[in-house]
Amino acid sequence: MNKKFIFGPVPSRRLGYSLGIDLVERKFCSYDCIYCEVGKTTNKIIERIDFHNDKEIVSQIKDFLGSYTGRIDCITFTGSGEPTLNVKMGEILSEVKKLTTLPITLLTNGSLFFREDVRNESMDFDIVIPSLDSVCEESFLKVNKPHKDLKLSIIIEGLIKFSKEYKGKLFLEILLVKGVNDSDNDLISLRKIIERMKVDKVQINTVIRPPAYKEAKPIEEEDKERIKNLLGDFVQIDLSFSGKKDNRSNVGKEEVKELLKRRPCTFEQISVSLGMDGESLKKILEDLEKELKDNLKIDKFDGEFYYKVVEND
Ligand code: SF4
Repeated sequence: MNKKFIFGPVPSRRLGYSLGIDLVERKFCSYDCIYCEVGKTTNKIIERIDFHNDKEIVSQIKDFLGSYTGRIDCITFTGSGEPTLNVKMGEILSEVKKLTTLPITLLTNGSLFFREDVRNESMDFDIVIPSLDSVCEESFLKVNKPHKDLKLSIIIEGLIKFSKEYKGKLFLEILLVKGVNDSDNDLISLRKIIERMKVDKVQINTVIRPPAYKEAKPIEEEDKERIKNLLGDFVQIDLSFSGKKDNRSNVGKEEVKELLKRRPCTFEQISVSLGMDGESLKKILEDLEKELKDNLKIDKFDGEFYYKVVEND
């Protein structure tokens, strides 16, 4: 089965077992976040384009749902870039809704919510998780490296507008990078904006996998108290990877490869994400090493070794 556009299901703290759907090619994004785990942005755009992948995406999801017997709790539009850049996002969503009653989630950087078409298409998701890492110009530029035509004030207004119009579950995600967007001023300013939004949850994350830019460092446990004090008790702070293994016996090389294309993982994280025992995973990684040679990278980050599949340069 061709699974070029889908990966997982991978366990997620918020969503349970989530089947990831890649709506855009690697790596089309309106940002080039320094912490991005996919890698540096090679195509920084803000115009929505037709990737001519809508029919194939829907057919791959249909095939997968028809044959997969493991646990899936939701389908998530995410992947190797910014999903709202796909001009067919709304059409793909409505086709996928015909195939399943599973909740469908949109993971987005929220930068295009100033556009009415993006807001309208996003209304039909069951859960929307936009990110907003900074509302201060200097930190925003440093942490997200946005497309030159994006204006922070317009992005913020778009997010606030969407949050008030949207009827599903809205979880705001903030990723804090040490010394970049975690100052008292950053957090106080963020809080003022969040108070103008209608959100169900605010989640704080940090850099937990090898980032696109080496200067992106995680905040530390000691910072938690200060962040809570400044942002408010309503925020949830999660600084670690966690997961519970759901054993599966039929995970193949392609599945591991698709996961590592989107997300660098330690041995343990792959094992938990795909429900694999250590022996089978070791064998698959050896096979991948032979097949991919230099395109299977192992990076050291925060004392751990991360596997990652990169494209040919
Ligand atoms: S983290 Fe998301 S928004 Fe930021 S560059 Fe990567 S894909 Fe784009």
